[in-house]
Amino acid sequence: SVNDTLALLGADATAFLARAGKLYINGAWVEAASGRHFEVIDPASGEVFAHVAEGGTADIDLAVEAARAAFDHGPWSSLSPMERSKLVWRLGDLIEKHADEIAQLEALDNGKPVSDARAGDVTFSYELFRYMAGWATKITGETIPLSSGAPVHAYTLREPVGVCGQIVPWNFSFMMTCWKVAPALAAGCTIVLKPAEQTPLTALRLAELVEEAGFPKGVFNVVNGPGETAGAALAAHPKVDKIAFTGSTEVGKLILDAAKGNLKKVSLELGGKSPMIVFEDADLEAAIPALAYGCFYNMGQTCTAGTRLYVHERIADRVLKGVAEFASGMKIGAGLDPATQIGPLVSAEQFERVAAYVAEGQREGATLYCGGNRVGDKGYFLEPTILSDTTAEMRVVREEIFGPVLVARSFGDDELDSIVDEANASIYGLAASVFTRDVSRAHKVAKRLKAGTIGVNTHHVIDPALPFGGFRQSGWGREQGYEAILLYTEVKSVGIQL
Ligand code: NAD
Repeated sequence: SVNDTLALLGADATAFLARAGKLYINGAWVEAASGRHFEVIDPASGEVFAHVAEGGTADIDLAVEAARAAFDHGPWSSLSPMERSKLVWRLGDLIEKHADEIAQLEALDNGKPVSDARAGDVTFSYELFRYMAGWATKITGETIPLSSGAPVHAYTLREPVGVCGQIVPWNFSFMMTCWKVAPALAAGCTIVLKPAEQTPLTALRLAELVEEAGFPKGVFNVVNGPGETAGAALAAHPKVDKIAFTGSTEVGKLILDAAKGNLKKVSLELGGKSPMIVFEDADLEAAIPALAYGCFYNMGQTCTAGTRLYVHERIADRVLKGVAEFASGMKIGAGLDPATQIGPLVSAEQFERVAAYVAEGQREGATLYCGGNRVGDKGYFLEPTILSDTTAEMRVVREEIFGPVLVARSFGDDELDSIVDEANASIYGLAASVFTRDVSRAHKVAKRLKAGTIGVNTHHVIDPALPFGGFRQSGWGREQGYEAILLYTEVKSVGIQL
């Protein structure tokens, strides 16, 4: 039951749950204008464990006004880059100080293994704050000699874009929040954040730490609430200068429509259906765990998940058997249990969606190679699943399932070249990987694969310094690295007649 889950929480996380649940607007903790709350559900038991204020249009208005005032008139915009850098660094330190607590809250809220949350989500987040703190003092323009030779001294200034609306999903809710918040703060922007309704908690904990770090009021605001109301109001708001969205491609298109009114800047991190290609000469001992993690990490609820496997026919049996064995050895349990490697899916809705795809794949003619079963009768646990003998036309191969489902097919010697084209034949282009010992082939295939991040002999390649984002319908723009600073700044040209 939910009490079993809650018993696994540490004292700090338990204390947070007792006080959390309001909106954070203009440096104050407030109830929603409507007075409404929504339920927060433990994915390991399916039971409600908390209630959180449900923001809507009126709350978004207040938060945007606060962010607007903080940007236009607050002390924030007159802070020196060094002062901003120190605050951003301090926030990273505070996240590290409370890392275990944040990891537990994330594991409770999302269901993900707490060990993954601590080593992945939370560690990547505080390291990103430190990385971005460094950029705060290094955002520069250029001096540009005019092509006409006119007697004008010309230069560019790179300035913060302004008030940013940031909308994040539930799969890496804390980390996706930090990917957006850290560069925006380093660049000098102000923020209204709308977390996903399935995972409202860790953003509220972040707001407490923002306050503790000493950011001026109004710089960072959190409004939990439904996407269709709070999220839509933020995306459409005329006083928001930029909207940064991570989520599904479908909603990304709605964001784009909503942003049209005032042509606010838009960056989008959307869905994926990333291929992993394994050639005959791959080091299988290393490749098999990499492929299993590539797909099943975070129960496959990862935008970059390697969910399409293309494997050479002479090694296909060994690889499928190896990945299936590896996956079946992963311990399934509540996210908060430190031994857990596979947690529940995030919600009943997500479980139904994924299970329907597994059935649909078999109807389309794929073979259920392993998994596919629900585990236990409580919570949303699903075995890691492999569908083999798939073809390019199947829905399970074309569409993002967003669960622990790997679709696989083998290829022959006559397809060594065309398999790369097939891997590229997707509306998405977020990530891709190639497994081979042949250095030339690795480079050639990495160049031909059309995706934002390519792994060679590994699948997930993530680092604060490395740009991250998608080709095609996987999105617009790049987060992480200096590219993220570009997303949160505008360039201004200045000419001085001499
Ligand atoms: P989603 O698109 O349903 O929701 C994402 C966010 O958008 C939530 O906060 C939601 O409340 C909000 N939202 C929903 N409707 C809205 C509307 N009409 N206007 C404004 N906001 C609205 O996605 P999800 O199910 O939470 O997350 C899964 C998706 O996110 C997957 O497609 C996954 O690939 C993608 N994702 C992408 C990346 C990336 O970096 N490319 C990272 C993580 C997740």
